[in-house]
Amino acid sequence: MSFRNLSLDPKILQAVQEAGYTEPTPIQTAAIPPILAGSDLIGIAQTGTGKTAAFTLPILTKLAAVVGAGGQRGTRALVLAPTRELVLQIEENVRIYGKHLPLRVATVFGGVGEHPQINALRAGTNLIIACPGRLLDLMGRRCADFSGLQYLVLDEADRMLDMGFLPSIRQIVRQLPSKRQTLLFSATLSKEIEVLTHEFQRAPKLVQIGRRSNPAETVTQLVYEVPKHLKPALLVHLLRDPGMNMVLVFSRMKHSADRIARNLEEKGIRTATLHSNRSQNQRLRALKDFKSSAVRVLVATDIAARGIDVDGISHVVNYDFPMHAEDYVHRIGRTGRAHAVGDAISFVTPEDYGELRSLERFIGRGIVRKKAEGFNYGVAQPSDFAASQQRQPRSHASPSRPQPRSGGGASHGGQRSSGNRSHGNRNFRPSGLQGRR
Ligand code: AMP
Repeated sequence: MSFRNLSLDPKILQAVQEAGYTEPTPIQTAAIPPILAGSDLIGIAQTGTGKTAAFTLPILTKLAAVVGAGGQRGTRALVLAPTRELVLQIEENVRIYGKHLPLRVATVFGGVGEHPQINALRAGTNLIIACPGRLLDLMGRRCADFSGLQYLVLDEADRMLDMGFLPSIRQIVRQLPSKRQTLLFSATLSKEIEVLTHEFQRAPKLVQIGRRSNPAETVTQLVYEVPKHLKPALLVHLLRDPGMNMVLVFSRMKHSADRIARNLEEKGIRTATLHSNRSQNQRLRALKDFKSSAVRVLVATDIAARGIDVDGISHVVNYDFPMHAEDYVHRIGRTGRAHAVGDAISFVTPEDYGELRSLERFIGRGIVRKKAEGFNYGVAQPSDFAASQQRQPRSHASPSRPQPRSGGGASHGGQRSSGNRSHGNRNFRPSGLQGRR
């Protein structure tokens, strides 16, 4: 299959070729024709499969006929996404694929001043990419004109539900024309997602790529068993390998992300951090430095890392074992994106063994255990860093996970409460899929 067979607008086809894409990915091959034919669509695909282009390319093809032609005013397409990082990333994709079109695009998300966003909306846009909360605020002040809206995309819908955005999404959708095409993308097809599609879509086509919960096939997964106090030393040891040249490290907590970064910096390893305590500018700076290789390591929490789209990540290191199986799938989806190959390394302490086994059941295969060559496992090396790690309480409600807002998201968010973890219940269950497997 080639992009040429997909009936895309010639200017978009040109941009896709300039982006260096030689052939469509499976989700693109499956999703683009029904979207162009006008169907509502549910796309179930892991991150890193090319799903952004799967909805962006056909929508831009449809917009190509009208943008710049004067005529109808108002916004034609709205993409809702859970985090500002993802919004910015979708925008980047739209700008790449739409670079030969006179397209007006606006982004809307919280945490930054609203006036530039209001001005952009008032100036008129063809396409808006937005986080639900801020968009709803601005809609309440009549900053956006959706009377001519034709295309609605809910991207990473499962994560939007987890974050408690359902009430905001409902309020937004209520204000959109009912005659529209609605596309919904999610990593999993849970009961909650099915409810959402009944509510917002008409006779949607289902496109499902890969086995549910199957991490990208191109990622080599490894487990390093390590006592907790040796994790800092093991990370430094592994980073002696020059092949680990662009490394995304995941921690569960914001404060431990900072501590990991400090430890690496002390060892002369340039490191940036990405978590929700950092300002928007600091986050953008961290991503920019990582993308440009000014820093070799980026330490991130799960929420902050959602939607990171950086080409060439050589390794993902799960410094802290992920709290949920889906987080694991998302984390390791940061490497091996599209057609690249990458390694995902998980540090597993004895406390994590039960969760590791549950994860292996969830992804349907075992993960290879490995010993780090040349690393001294026998000797306890309590550095200040390791000692302070040990002093940390085992678990609190993850500060990196935003609290659900009121309403429909709360019950789902409640399933993920980590409160019971600190009381010894370490059953690791994939969220959203309880009782369905
Ligand atoms: P996504 O799943 O949308 O986050 O995309 C993952 C990565 O794949 C992004 O870096 C895209 O630029 C890239 N990508 C998307 N489609 C293709 C394609 N057909 N060929 C090569 N790379 C692609």
